[in-house]
Amino acid sequence: MTATVSFQGIGASPGVAVGHAFVIDSRKVRTPKVKLKPVEAESEVMRFKTAISLSDAQLEELKVKLSTGAENEHALILEAHRMMLHDPMFIVEVSRLIKEESINAEWAVRRVCRRLRHQFDNLEDEYFRERKSDIEFVADRLVRNLLGEVVDQELEVPLGAIVVAHDISPADAAMLVKTGRVGAFVTDLGGQTSHTAIVARARDVPAVVGLGKCADSIRAGDTVAVDGRRGMVLVNPSEEQLALFRETMRRQLATEALALKTAELPSVTIDGHSVRLHGNIEFVDEIPSLLAHGAEGIGLYRTEFLFLDRPAPPTEEEHYQAYRAVLEAMGNRPVTIRTLDLGGDKIPSSKKWEKEINPALGLRAIRYCLQNREMFRAQLRALLRASVHGNLRVMFPMVSGVSELREARSELEACRSELSRQGVPMGRRFQVGIMVETPSAAWIADRLAQEADFFSIGTNDLIQYSLAIDRQNRDVAYLYRPLHLSILRMVQHIVEAGKRAGIPVSMCGEMAGDSSLTLVLLALGLDEFSMTSGQIPVVKRIIRSVGMNEAHDLLNKAMQLTTAEEIERFIKSEMDRRFAAEG
Ligand code: PEP
Ligand code: MG
Repeated sequence: MTATVSFQGIGASPGVAVGHAFVIDSRKVRTPKVKLKPVEAESEVMRFKTAISLSDAQLEELKVKLSTGAENEHALILEAHRMMLHDPMFIVEVSRLIKEESINAEWAVRRVCRRLRHQFDNLEDEYFRERKSDIEFVADRLVRNLLGEVVDQELEVPLGAIVVAHDISPADAAMLVKTGRVGAFVTDLGGQTSHTAIVARARDVPAVVGLGKCADSIRAGDTVAVDGRRGMVLVNPSEEQLALFRETMRRQLATEALALKTAELPSVTIDGHSVRLHGNIEFVDEIPSLLAHGAEGIGLYRTEFLFLDRPAPPTEEEHYQAYRAVLEAMGNRPVTIRTLDLGGDKIPSSKKWEKEINPALGLRAIRYCLQNREMFRAQLRALLRASVHGNLRVMFPMVSGVSELREARSELEACRSELSRQGVPMGRRFQVGIMVETPSAAWIADRLAQEADFFSIGTNDLIQYSLAIDRQNRDVAYLYRPLHLSILRMVQHIVEAGKRAGIPVSMCGEMAGDSSLTLVLLALGLDEFSMTSGQIPVVKRIIRSVGMNEAHDLLNKAMQLTTAEEIERFIKSEMDRRFAAEG
């Protein structure tokens, strides 16, 4: 009998799966290093350029294969890879190394890509650090083509297989999910925001990433059990462990089936108080899952994800196509598109990544947009043009004062007049709201409410700025407490200001999808909760099983307490008493 081995990684997409391993050999591509004679340099540069053309044609072919239906986002990533291939600086630098240092094309490609990758290493933001693997995928494709190796092999994955790899390229990940046969993904590299993780979450496929050295110890056909929530992988589990996994899987499938049945039911309390449950997305292909889970609209579309994965900012046309795709996929349902929340160390500026000493407090989001008008206007024009395709709402992030809102609105109006002069079709006037995610905005919410059409509370940042803790810093993570009395009071204050002005108040930070806080948030008076698709059914089930008196009573008692620990203990015991049996 084979011994069981267990691995702990990062739970990147929830769900449990048991199946046989399908190992993708993604070992490093061999890079031969050859010194050239000076006369060989010219033909070596030609060889390099031929490999670029070949790689480009392959990516184009893949893009065509994937550009039907919801796979559009992957096509965008492949397009980004094509842009990297054609980056003049990249081509010039590789050619220079071939000629001046007399080295072969494979070696020169690796050296230039290594240098590019290092520029990403020191970035604080995990999403941006992860993008360096895209450079690696482009380099691998080029080197494989230079060596005449097979690329983009069609993978015949058996139904329910656990796909195991050192890393999976966006092209492979996209092709694999399209087959609908993957039971789970297990990879050595990657984090919460790596491409595999995003694709897996969008398609409800369990995934554990960042396992270190797991792929090498799993052989094709091994039985693999994956827990995507806990980030756990068991290879050749015992009969007992397998039974436990299968039981969890059975329960999760049953809960999911039940949840999907409730998708059509309204989110209304037993005494008739109704709220709206919306979804948060980063990519258009998350929409089918969102709708299947019962989202009534999109409460937050983080457009900065579209902006990245590419060497140059998207054009107005690319913005427009992305927004159009989302609006059309949502039909008449409301779609809240947030303008770019880029900032600090996240911004590519003339291909150089600037570093700020304190990026969270730096030139971020609306501040950055107001200082980079061309880029902002491209997005605003695209939004105005896209407004003909659905039920659009636009929201500005990180607003800290009324002047910023006024400036952003007047830029929007300037774009509207310009488009109208040019005879470009636009939809009806749409609502323009703000994220309330700075303490400053919270305290002047009454004034902001006079000039915004809606509020959406961004608790991820509101907590960070109110409790003065960096949300990326593990050392202070223990202080990140949504149930801190100051946060509850602040949310209460924002909601009251919104209500007095008669505008709707939503919440789109992580707090909105935490089902242990649903009663508290109901009592605080939010009109709309926005979260990832998988969280919607549980939150809805809680809403449909309580009354508002009960919720108010709970909140009143909680707010008599003082420390975050006391409030958390109280809420947990009350929620356990009501819902523990339901799991
Ligand atoms: C928030 O801050 O709560 C939010 C939803 O925005 P982000 O997480 O994108 O900063
Ligand atoms: Mg935020």
